[in-house]
Amino acid sequence: MEDAVNVPTAGSSGQVVVAGAGYAGLHIALRLTAKLRSHRRLMLTLVDRHDYHQVITELPRVAGGTRAADAVRVPLQDVLHERVRFVQAEINGFDLAGRRLLTGAGPVGWGRLVLALGSRPNDFAIPGLAERTLSLYSASDAERVWAAVSQALAAAAAASDPERQRRLATVVVGGGGATGVELAGELADVLPELASQHGLAADRPAVLLIEAGPTILAGSSAQLIDKAARILSDLGVQVAVNATIAAATADGFRLADGSLVEGGVFVWAGGVKAPELVADSELPTGHNGRVKVDRYLRVLDHPEIYVAGDLASVTDPRTGHVLPPLAQVALEEGETVARNLDAERSGRPLEEFTFHDKGFVVSVGTRRGVADIAGITTGGRSAHLLKDAIEWEYRQSVRHLRGWDPVAR
Ligand SMILES: Cc1cc2nc3c(=O)[nH]c(=O)nc-3n(C[C@H](O)[C@H](O)[C@H](O)COP(=O)(O)OP(=O)(O)OC[C@H]3O[C@@H](n4cnc5c(N)ncnc54)[C@H](O)[C@@H]3O)c2cc1C
Repeated sequence: MEDAVNVPTAGSSGQVVVAGAGYAGLHIALRLTAKLRSHRRLMLTLVDRHDYHQVITELPRVAGGTRAADAVRVPLQDVLHERVRFVQAEINGFDLAGRRLLTGAGPVGWGRLVLALGSRPNDFAIPGLAERTLSLYSASDAERVWAAVSQALAAAAAASDPERQRRLATVVVGGGGATGVELAGELADVLPELASQHGLAADRPAVLLIEAGPTILAGSSAQLIDKAARILSDLGVQVAVNATIAAATADGFRLADGSLVEGGVFVWAGGVKAPELVADSELPTGHNGRVKVDRYLRVLDHPEIYVAGDLASVTDPRTGHVLPPLAQVALEEGETVARNLDAERSGRPLEEFTFHDKGFVVSVGTRRGVADIAGITTGGRSAHLLKDAIEWEYRQSVRHLRGWDPVAR
């Protein structure tokens, strides 16, 4: 690990800089580590604002108090080889002509740059949303949600007016995609017990899930949606579809039909967009500010820059749609970028990116879930166990890739 000031600022051709140590960026760094021995002149630098990797797919559990925040922060020094330079710094911009990443710790020159900066919550310019709601995109966010829920229940327990008590003990989740469903289910499962600990009746807390579209889990099969809706209903989650949030006010969510949704805690899980610094750059961007790439995952007109993960705008030729911001997509794109960086150094042809969909799994509550795998839809305990297995396998893969490193310490 070293400071940016010690990293060469002129982008030498052997200098590969990976911006972002999330699913895509860490995977690329781990994969390329294995090439450091065969490519002696290859220098690999990983830049992130944090000195840990976040297992974002497990955040709903942290927000529901069933997992510690530190359990989803993987220290990078535990997984990176000593020959990988790690620079902990905020990335503020790009000097494309000078091939330099501009960071709070100084410029970092690249020969090849990989952008893997993930997403930010998208408030769709809904008034008051960014200021008045919590989000769920980091371990710290998830800790804040759990703390807010605990505080709201404590305040509800102290309130004498039943109406006020009910309002304070209500958690409102905006956005019925996978994140919103997972969060609502997790909270609905744990809140009765938490309420009892605060001396509140177990049936006093409520969880509302507000979705603007006609269905939760949009884009999933009708069977999967039906199974998820049944589990949510069983957990007591009140789901409102076709309910567009027009504004977040001091009193609650004001819906487009004029009605007010009151609560004690408001969380926004309604979508993501690319980080602002990308929008402010000269990189070609498309839907939600994601960067347009060619079939090898190189930025259009910038073949020296690759993009992987949520930040890449990649159209699936089979559906004609841009691939969704998912960890499994980020990992597959990371794999292709790592192979292409190696191919460039070895003089092999580049590989086109093809997405191999492994299926879709969503946990709904602490014990149940829904899954669509190879056209078969399941719901219940088995789907939750599958989600557990995927998370376990991911954590193993981080160690496994490091363990495979031929130059391992
Ligand atoms: C709550 C939640 C649950 C999810 N569950 C699932 C799931 O079950 N299955 C699934 O497939 N997907 C899931 N996703 C989506 C998945 O987490 C993302 O698709 C995935 O994290 C994208 O990987 P990435 O590498 O593009 O970005 P990230 O993993 O977000 O990594 C981006 C990295 O860039 C760093 N970074 C960003 N900007 C800067 C900057 N300016 N300076 C320095 N560093 C910076 C960040 O610190 C971070 O380490 C979930 C998302 C959320 C929010």
